[in-house]
Amino acid sequence: MKITHIGAVVLQPFPWVLVRVFTDEGLVGLGEAYHGAGVHQIAVDERLTRALIGQDPRNVDRLFHDMQRVMSASGFFQGAVMSAISGIEMALWDLTGQSLGTPIWQLLGGQFRNRVRVYNDCHAGEDETPAAYARRACEVEARGFSAIKFDIDPLPTRRDAYNRGIRNSDIAHYVDVVTAVREALNPDTDLAIDAHWRYAPVDVLKIARAFEDLDLLWLEDPIPPENNEAMRHLTAQTRTPICTGENLYTRYGFRELVENQGADILSPDLAKAGGLLEGRRIADLANLYYIPIAPHNICGPVGTYAAAQVCAAIPNFLALEFHHLDNEIWTGLVEEGDTLIHAGHIPIGDRPGLGLTLIEDSVRACAREDLGFLQI
Ligand code: MG
Repeated sequence: MKITHIGAVVLQPFPWVLVRVFTDEGLVGLGEAYHGAGVHQIAVDERLTRALIGQDPRNVDRLFHDMQRVMSASGFFQGAVMSAISGIEMALWDLTGQSLGTPIWQLLGGQFRNRVRVYNDCHAGEDETPAAYARRACEVEARGFSAIKFDIDPLPTRRDAYNRGIRNSDIAHYVDVVTAVREALNPDTDLAIDAHWRYAPVDVLKIARAFEDLDLLWLEDPIPPENNEAMRHLTAQTRTPICTGENLYTRYGFRELVENQGADILSPDLAKAGGLLEGRRIADLANLYYIPIAPHNICGPVGTYAAAQVCAAIPNFLALEFHHLDNEIWTGLVEEGDTLIHAGHIPIGDRPGLGLTLIEDSVRACAREDLGFLQI
């Protein structure tokens, strides 16, 4: 089997990037790359696809290395290039599984679990009151989710957006909100809080310490992501579990953070960090220090279900992110859309490859730019 063509499409209103790898045997692999400026263009750029055309798609790891090699002058190890490579890597696994009649999780080592726990990212309440946050949390919990996340982004009352400082009244507000949510939920429903890299260590530590007796699943991205030593220092100073990783690429991007135990939980985004086998490698690296993995994910159904294949196949999986509750475009992109998430979990099927059937008319209806994905 040989690769004949790579196609990519960016959708709207949410700019999901889908990738297809076509072969001379008629099999077509499907993947999703983390969205971002130019990612769909990079996926079909001749500088990248020359590593693929004419090759056997089942040599997935070799092609992953070849894609990085041919892009080595273009920042191959991170950013939009690695996102594009990640989406193609998923499609190669889909092809490999289809050709062998085997699901991807089997190719990644087999199952530790046959359903993958999903946590719902709620963002915020209808308004900024603790009662509104608690109401939203209970609505989502009632739909079967055993893990929920909210954001604590700076309030409009913040004095200075550049020094990462925070006022005492804002800390008090966050504590009120999170306490209200925690008290409203079942004690066994997990609650995570995302701080979106907004704060200085000295300030977010006040928040983390105030949260210490609220049994959070984690506090995510408390400080900017570039400084592993600052993250390690912060993580060591609070009993609130610290999670980070959605801005890191490949196992090399995670190496220092893991070796320094700079976070309690890691959140790689598999649609940008290198794809499915690289996701498994990052998980294995983290597991040397018994660190759980909770993949970041804002993908459509393709990237979400692909990430779930890895989540099923690694021992140290904690929860997989989900952003698109009640989004009919999300469920309408694949035939399996309505049943992909059930009672807060993704049941893992045994269909060959990725196991999803794309609804081409749905893709066509929301395609913003088609680069040989629908029309070759
Ligand atoms: Mg986040």
